Amino acid sequence: MRNRHGALLCSAVLALAAAPAEPAGLPKKPYDVLKLAEGVYAFVWKDPAQNLIESNALFVVNDRDVLVVDTGMVPSTGRVMAAELKKLTDRPVRYVVNTHWHDDHHGGNEVYRELWPGVEFIAHRDTREDIFGGTYGARAKYIASLEDGAARYERWAATGKDDEGKPLDDGRRRRAGELAALDRGLAPELAAIHNTPPDLTFDDRLILHRGDRTIEVLWLGLGNTRGDVVVFLPRERIAATGDLFVQPVPFGIGSYYEDWISTLGRVDALEADVLVPGHGAVQRDRAYLRQVEALLSALVTEVKSAAASGATLEETRRKVTLADWKAKFAGNDPALERAFDAFFVAPAVERAWRQARGEKDQPVS
Ligand SMILES: [Zn+2]
Repeated sequence: MRNRHGALLCSAVLALAAAPAEPAGLPKKPYDVLKLAEGVYAFVWKDPAQNLIESNALFVVNDRDVLVVDTGMVPSTGRVMAAELKKLTDRPVRYVVNTHWHDDHHGGNEVYRELWPGVEFIAHRDTREDIFGGTYGARAKYIASLEDGAARYERWAATGKDDEGKPLDDGRRRRAGELAALDRGLAPELAAIHNTPPDLTFDDRLILHRGDRTIEVLWLGLGNTRGDVVVFLPRERIAATGDLFVQPVPFGIGSYYEDWISTLGRVDALEADVLVPGHGAVQRDRAYLRQVEALLSALVTEVKSAAASGATLEETRRKVTLADWKAKFAGNDPALERAFDAFFVAPAVERAWRQARGEKDQPVS
């Protein structure tokens, strides 16, 4: 499995059951735009465990301009989000914050530059570097993998058999057709993207004063990636957390699990009544955040103990299944169970095991 958010989605989507049929091109997905305070809105995708995972966004409408947090996976998604913003205000977008380097948080940047040429894109300095390495540097390979995937799923759908010649039941055959359509829609969009990287970077904190609004852009420590930032509105008591905090199942790909626990503690300590996660539903208490913190603690403790006893990676995988946690996060929903395994357990156990053994950090792509 490649240590890359976008590429992982391709393999993980296979595991997500019961998705709706998709027309040619990218699927249309349901979303909500929620007013959180005067001039502050969350754009929230309603079905986070969807085929193509998309980031939420925050719109902060100020006296004379707008700040946006995260722009979606591809320009067509960015256009859906920007069209909703235009319904709320005619003020121009002056700033976009990309919370981290994963493709689904900055793939729509070019749309904002087209619509508002004066916009500036803000990110942590490591995020900018990782966007060049992990997204732009890996895109050709990612597109090739989508094209290979599409050809394979088309073959499965046409023949009713998988690569080993085993017959597919009706559900899997239909699913293969859906995935082929998704990959066929995504590949040309990615190929046509105009790279629009962050042009304003910072290390720890950047504070914007827009009229009587204060917007704090905070790096609180290593976490889901090395450059995650939180956008905090102290007066409105609202924080957008990027993927430091994702609902209904956390993502743990290429992460810094032990540091992430204390970083989440700093998110917890913000005086915010409303948390807008990178994916999933807006949270108005700390119950889910503390559940994620406890999951990370369990992961780190269990993997460290396995590594200390000399367990190999395979032995560690067998020992650290996080089965009780899967039940807490996924309930009895098979699609969420598979998402929990694909997005968290599989990548996190391996990387935490390497970290426990003191292995040098792997590059992002
Ligand atoms: Zn994300």
